[in-house]
Amino acid sequence: MSNEPLVINGTTIIQGTRVTIDLPAGRLYTHTPMTVPVHVVSGKKPGPRLFISAAIHGDEINGVEIIRRLLKLPALKRLRGTIIAIPIVNVHGLINHSRYLPDRRDLNRSFPGSERGSLAARLANTFMKEIVKKCTHGIDLHTGALHRDNLPQIRANIDDEETDRLARAFNAPVIISSNLRDGSLRESAAEHGIPMLLYEAGEALRFDEVSIRAGVKGIVNVMRELEMLPASRSKAKKKIEPVVARSSSWVRASESGILRAMIPLGARVKKNTLLGIVADPFGDTETKVLSQFSGIVIGRTNLPLVNEGDALYHVARFEDIEEIEAKVDEFQEEHLPELIPSPKPESPII
Ligand SMILES: [Zn+2]
Repeated sequence: MSNEPLVINGTTIIQGTRVTIDLPAGRLYTHTPMTVPVHVVSGKKPGPRLFISAAIHGDEINGVEIIRRLLKLPALKRLRGTIIAIPIVNVHGLINHSRYLPDRRDLNRSFPGSERGSLAARLANTFMKEIVKKCTHGIDLHTGALHRDNLPQIRANIDDEETDRLARAFNAPVIISSNLRDGSLRESAAEHGIPMLLYEAGEALRFDEVSIRAGVKGIVNVMRELEMLPASRSKAKKKIEPVVARSSSWVRASESGILRAMIPLGARVKKNTLLGIVADPFGDTETKVLSQFSGIVIGRTNLPLVNEGDALYHVARFEDIEEIEAKVDEFQEEHLPELIPSPKPESPII
């Protein structure tokens, strides 16, 4: 694949050049044409073709900043192969600060799409045809949903050997292994034999510095593993081996009320650990939120106003929870020593 010239939307990419291409994405009803901007960095030497996409969910903007920083790296002068960067896939959603497309469809449930389907299906189809099928590997950047924060984590099907190699190379503290059939970009890429990682970190409509730095570093690590960039010359540091979880689930509110969260992201919890308390505004009725199993908190709500059934804490199941907590600490120290919060939990005054 890497020996044929790369052509995107009719533009042939000349080896050793950088070019921005606007993929057509229909028109707005104002007659204004919509386009998805694609930036291609072609190395002087041939090698893998890696796509890096962000804002498939239009309100998940950490990845937009990750791609901006990545494209500025001086190391790209020595790139082998090609980076195809798509910082804003769901352009409609980003303009509206929305996860969805204007037809209220979720683009990441609309793959592989079709030429004559819904707006989401058409955009998915263009993306598959012009980007994904022309690549050898991919990384898709996400954040938690609105008012929800995610611990930096990789989601990937690690039963596939190449995907497993890249997932570990990324070096996020946690890998959630999953192989869903959900109409996602990841599923469609896998059907074409293209190994793909999904990086989840931070919250929608916010920049989170740890998540952004870890994202840039992770992509560079993957590119080194693929020999697209030379190995790091800095002294080999003790590598943090990520820990793999095979399952995770949300702890939901059993009553409506106001949540006092007691456990931060990345915290180790045991079965029946107190995660928070939901109370009415008078404090008359209080309900404890307890973890249902041992693991680590990989996601949580930031909004204290909760309805019965709302997802509050996302806990990944781990066998050896002491080991994983040490890894999360090491990871935070590596990426942002100046911002490490005090280790004590957020204990509310009861
Ligand atoms: Zn997302």
